[in-house]
Amino acid sequence: MALVPEAPSSRVRQLNSCPLKKSGRYVLYWMISARRLQWNFGLQQAVHRAQTLNLPLVILEPIGCRAKWSSVRFHHFVIEGMAEHHALCQERGIAYHPYVEPEPGHGVGLVEAYAQKAAAVITDDFPCYFLPRMVQTLGQRIDVPLECVDSNGIFPMRATDQVFTTAHAFRRFLQKNIKPYLSEFPVADSLAGPILSMEIPGQIARKWSPATPGLLNRDASALAQLPIDQTVQPAAFRGGLKAAQEAVARFFKSRLPRYADDRNNPEQEAASGLSPYLHFGHVSAHEVFSRLAAKESWKPEHLPEKASGSREGWWQMSPAAEAFLDELITWREVGYNFTSHREDYDQYESLPAWARQSLEKHAGDHRPSLYDLHQLEIAQTHDELWNAAQRQLVREGRMHNYLRMLWGKKVLEWSLTPQQAVETLIHLNNKYAVDGRNPNSYSGIFWVFGRYDRAWGPERPIFGTIRYMSSDNTARKLPVKDYLKRYAASSGK
Ligand SMILES: Cc1cc2nc3c(=O)[nH]c(=O)nc-3n(C[C@H](O)[C@H](O)[C@H](O)COP(=O)(O)OP(=O)(O)OC[C@H]3O[C@@H](n4cnc5c(N)ncnc54)[C@H](O)[C@@H]3O)c2cc1C
Repeated sequence: MALVPEAPSSRVRQLNSCPLKKSGRYVLYWMISARRLQWNFGLQQAVHRAQTLNLPLVILEPIGCRAKWSSVRFHHFVIEGMAEHHALCQERGIAYHPYVEPEPGHGVGLVEAYAQKAAAVITDDFPCYFLPRMVQTLGQRIDVPLECVDSNGIFPMRATDQVFTTAHAFRRFLQKNIKPYLSEFPVADSLAGPILSMEIPGQIARKWSPATPGLLNRDASALAQLPIDQTVQPAAFRGGLKAAQEAVARFFKSRLPRYADDRNNPEQEAASGLSPYLHFGHVSAHEVFSRLAAKESWKPEHLPEKASGSREGWWQMSPAAEAFLDELITWREVGYNFTSHREDYDQYESLPAWARQSLEKHAGDHRPSLYDLHQLEIAQTHDELWNAAQRQLVREGRMHNYLRMLWGKKVLEWSLTPQQAVETLIHLNNKYAVDGRNPNSYSGIFWVFGRYDRAWGPERPIFGTIRYMSSDNTARKLPVKDYLKRYAASSGK
């Protein structure tokens, strides 16, 4: 059977200069963001190394308890995936170590311990939250190669040094440059070929025990013992591969035809709901793209020669598919472009100069309504549509896309300063949204303040020339009656 090819060089960065350790006993795949066993360049690279070195593969999938905003909600979602990985690896005879850190600091040293006897360590390249720093630090602490592999999107993050400030400019760039990457997709099932088996090293398993069956089953009592935020309870939807596949199938079958027209309608489920699965890596953008392309009988040669920067007609697919791909590729990946190149991606100072100038000009404007973080968190504002959106976020772990924009704009209007509004939005989004702590969390939040946007007239109090949105206009434009009922204060758990 053919061996798995290595991941394309455009996707792999070695974070230290250590050579492969010939005496290594296995190859370690440290799965930290592309949490899946399919369509995964990181796993593919690890399998390739293991096969060519004739060594076993070990997959370590950890979740720590110290990361900011750690909660039952996100642990539950990630562990749903771990349980599936555990079963699949057992079936295929592959060493898999699911590790759920039981107390702060307990996981320290785990990857180093594995690295001591490894020939190489392969991990995922995720451009934000605490992950880039953690991975950089590890690279300096071990004496085997640490390869960091970008499995995030269709266009490799490091294939350009350019940082794009508008979706139009990024789209135009992609139209000119994406073609070679459309024939460089990850292997759908890297684990299908021959892979040597081994037991998890005893010393490691004793010190860092694999997740218990109780944890893998998400028993409430097991999760309740973890030192994570217990007030943020599991989301209204499941995590893991199966749930992700069901979401993709449901979207293509019943939502995609309505996507272009109804995506903004809060009472119609016309969007994919894929962002939580994309965020935790339970599904790959490559797989979603491939399945859509097959559905549309599309081939790369259908791409037009000229790059116009325009959304329509880019792919020569149906209008609904084109509208969806513009979100999945242009908007999703422009965020990965920004966070992978700008360390200040989560700072107010990263906003474009025109936006900061306009906000600062209006910094002293009277704010008719001011709410603090607590009032916002418990949805105690005078604006029922905003409160409903906030309740949806807290209860379900998601918020309707259009209302998410309005939600952000109102926090800018109701905060003492735009800097404080940025902090509030980052906190609420990342604490409650399953898709939070992602490059698109920062794209979305900073879009509220002008990133990827332009100046809009008329100049208004507080907003200046930042695009303005109001709940009244939204309620006039879109049906919200049922949404308000569904997320009324009295309808909650
Ligand atoms: C204030 C604010 C905060 C946001 N926070 C997040 C966040 O934490 N995580 C997150 O993934 N997105 C965030 N977004 C972007 C967007 O709202 C969500 O990606 C989208 O609602 C997810 O729903 P969906 O999967 O059904 O999207 P679909 O419409 O089905 O789109 C498919 C995919 O494209 C990407 N996408 C869609 N819209 C956008 C967008 N506007 N910007 C970037 N990527 C997009 C997502 O990966 C999404 O899953 C935020 C937007 C705003 C205004």
